[in-house]
Order: sequence, then C-alpha cells, then structure tokens
Amino acid sequence: MPVYEYRCASCRRRSSHLFRTFASIATPPCPHCGAKPERMQKLISRVVVMKSEESRLEDLADPSTFADVDENDPRSVARWARKLGEQLGDDLPDDYGEMVDQLESGELGDESDEAAGGIPPAADDL
Ligand SMILES: [Zn+2]
Repeated sequence: MPVYEYRCASCRRRSSHLFRTFASIATPPCPHCGAKPERMQKLISRVVVMKSEESRLEDLADPSTFADVDENDPRSVARWARKLGEQLGDDLPDDYGEMVDQLESGELGDESDEAAGGIPPAADDL
C-alpha cells in the first residue's frame, strides 16, 4: 500500500497518509489544523521502505516483545512504548515523546487506575 508523507505549510506539522490503492491517492487536508490540500507539500514517498518497516512491525508484534510488559505498571508500558518509538522513528506523532514521558511519570497511570477502580467486582453468579 502506498504511503505518502506531507508537511503542512500552515502549521509545519508532518502527517503520513496511507492509501488503499495507487488510484486513490489524493492530497488530503492537514489532519492537524485542517488546512486545505493546496497547503500540503508532499515529502519523499515512503512506498519503497514499506517492506522493511512491515517486517520491523512484525517483529514488534511478536508476543515475546510484550512478555515483560506489565500493563498495570505505567513505567513498564512506557519502556515498551519508548522501544516501539525507536523502531518507528520518523513516523511518530510530534507529541509521542511527550506522551511517553507522561506515561513514565505516572500522569497517565492515574487515569487508568481510576478506570480500573470503576469496574465492579465480579460477584454476580450467572
Ligand atoms: Zn496544518
């Protein structure tokens, strides 16, 4: 599948767009600020590198990659997310690192703790 990267002339942010077929390729509006397609500058096509990226992603999808991740421990998840980020490189959103930092510092962990506390105990017999 063709993947194209664009830089928005309005907000200067990059975005990647995946197209189902070559026929369906059309410059999209900016997903960050909604600028018109005319404001989008196409960057180097990523089609050529897709093969190797796919195999890298397959490596990451290997269950053993997740084996040492404790999903209840934000720091553990953050470590994994950081590793994932290193693999994905340039394809990351601008605020990815920020998100991982928040995860690591526990800011996002509080949220999930609350969610977990909201689940009633499974006491009902069915
Ligand atoms: Zn924009």
